[in-house]
Amino acid sequence: MHQFTRFSLPLCMVVDEGVFGHTDEILEDYMPGITKKKAILVTEEFLKNTYSDIVREICDDFGEAPVFTVSDADYETASALAKKISMESIGVVIGFGGGRVLDTAKYAAHISKAVYICLPTTLSNDSLASPFSVLTMEGRSRKTLPCKIPTAIIVDTEMIRKAPVSQTMSGIGDTIGKYTAVYDWAIAAKAGNARLDDFAYSIASMCCDSIMYCDEKSIQSKHFMTALSRALVMGGLAMEIAGSSRPCSGSEHLFAHAIEEYYPDIKISHGLAVALGCVGAANFQGRDDMKIIEVCKKYGLDLNPETYGMSRDMFADIWMKAPGTRPDRVSILNDTELNREWIDEIYSRMQK
Ligand SMILES: [Zn+2]
Repeated sequence: MHQFTRFSLPLCMVVDEGVFGHTDEILEDYMPGITKKKAILVTEEFLKNTYSDIVREICDDFGEAPVFTVSDADYETASALAKKISMESIGVVIGFGGGRVLDTAKYAAHISKAVYICLPTTLSNDSLASPFSVLTMEGRSRKTLPCKIPTAIIVDTEMIRKAPVSQTMSGIGDTIGKYTAVYDWAIAAKAGNARLDDFAYSIASMCCDSIMYCDEKSIQSKHFMTALSRALVMGGLAMEIAGSSRPCSGSEHLFAHAIEEYYPDIKISHGLAVALGCVGAANFQGRDDMKIIEVCKKYGLDLNPETYGMSRDMFADIWMKAPGTRPDRVSILNDTELNREWIDEIYSRMQK
C-alpha cells in the first residue's frame, strides 16, 4: 500500500453453486470469529418466506440472528436499521436479497460502522459491490449516497438461477452500458470535468468485454452466471477505485435517469433502460452500435422502445431531457447537436 491509496477491496468474493448453505464456514475462513459476533440478517418478506430454510440456517449459524425485513429502499428504513444496529451493538449486517434490500443494508452498515456481508439473490445491476446506495427520500426523489463497499460478497449461482430471467437481463444491460460509460468518462476528463483513473477504466472496460464477447450462449448456465457476477462486482470495485460512478455511468445512464424522472409510468428495469440508452450513446459517440445490438439479441434483451410503450415522441423527449438529469456531468451529449431526425433513425434501428 502506498500513500496515495484511497480505496479498499472486499476480503472475500466467492461465486459457486449452493454456497449460501456454507456461508458461515466461508466467512470463518476469511474472518475467524465472525460468526461469534452479534449479527442481523436484512431481507424482504417475500424472500424470507420463499427461502425460509436458507434464511433460518444463516441466522442459526450467526447465533440466532434476528431478521429485519424491508419493503422499500428508503432513507427512513435505512436510518431506523442503522439506529437498531448501533443501539444493540450489532457487529455484522448480512444483506440477503436484490437491489432494495442490499442498498438498505449497505447504507445502514456504513452508518453504524458494522461489517457488511452481501448475499445477492439476483444479478440485476452493479450496485451490489459499489460504494453507493440509492435510497428514496421522503417517498419522492432517489438519492445516491456514498457508502462503504461490502467486506464479503458470496454469490450462489443456484439461487440466481431461481430469480426471474428478466433480472439477469437487467444485469447484462448494466454491464454493457460500460461500453459508452468509459468513453464518456474519457471525454469528461479531456474537458477537465473528471479525473480518469487508469485501473478503474481498464476494469470497467474488461467487465463490458467479458459479457460482450462471452462465448457462453445460455444465460442460465453456471459459466455465464459466474461471468456476470464477476462483471457486476468488478464494476462496483471500479467505482470504488475511481471514487465515483464515472467508470459505469455515462450518457446511457442519463437516458435511464430521464425515463425514471420524467416517465415513471414506463415499466422497464434499470439495466434494460441502460442498454437502450447505450445504443443511442454509441451513435452519438460515432461508434459501432452493432456489438451492443448483437449481444442483446444473443441474450434475449429486447431493445425495441415500443415494447416498453415508448413512442417516437417520448423517445426523442427522453434524449432531449437526458443531459439535464445530471447537468454537472460532461458526456458526449455536451458535444452533440441532438436533432429529431437522428433520434428517429436510432429509434428505427432499435425496432429491428
Ligand atoms: Zn447502472
